Amino acid sequence: MSFESLGLRPELLSAVASRGYTAPTPIQSQAIPVVFEGCDLLAGAQTGTGKTAAFALPIVQRLAEHPSPHKRRVPRALVLVPTRELAAQVSEEMNNYARRLSLRSTMIYGGVTIQAQIERLQRGVDIVVATPGRLLDHAERGTVNLGRVEFLVLDEADRMLDLGFIDDIKRVAEYLPPKRQTLLFSATYSKTIKQLADQLLDHPRRIEV
Ligand code: AMP
Repeated sequence: MSFESLGLRPELLSAVASRGYTAPTPIQSQAIPVVFEGCDLLAGAQTGTGKTAAFALPIVQRLAEHPSPHKRRVPRALVLVPTRELAAQVSEEMNNYARRLSLRSTMIYGGVTIQAQIERLQRGVDIVVATPGRLLDHAERGTVNLGRVEFLVLDEADRMLDLGFIDDIKRVAEYLPPKRQTLLFSATYSKTIKQLADQLLDHPRRIEV
């Protein structure tokens, strides 16, 4: 399996090559085709398996291939992560792919002043990588428009639940269009994860690595 055979655009092939990735990891070779097909995804994957590229690459490519008809950039992809550290990591990788296709990504997390985040959102972004609490804060203040989100990713969903984010996630979901593609990544699979998946995903394909 190669990145070429997954159907990635040349700009993204050079982006993965410049990160030193020579071949897709198992989660990448399994998840990327599912995202291209437009299906929801429930993926069992530990950290360190390459799951960031598994969702970031196909989402960026799909967004670039279907440009928004709207003049103002509003978020079309939302990635929820448990911690600020993970937000920074995911955001760095997401940005790296997004900018190759002229898309803008930003990071939103708590514990810092909100004003700079509001200004960045106002300037227009295509992709938001966020921790649930602060994102909900923006949604409730009306400083982020989630009404045109096409992709929702729940990254390390089990850790988000461990950190008590379940209600924030459910409340954020109420701001999202029901017709969207949702991808859930979790290292473990519990009854609570199953309930969350039942609520947020529609006939997901399941992969386990
Ligand atoms: P992640 O699970 O996305 O946090 O990725 C774990 C680590 O694997 C990160 O350091 C990535 O840069 C690296 N990585 C991701 N995909 C690949 C790949 N296809 N080949 C080599 N390294 C990779």
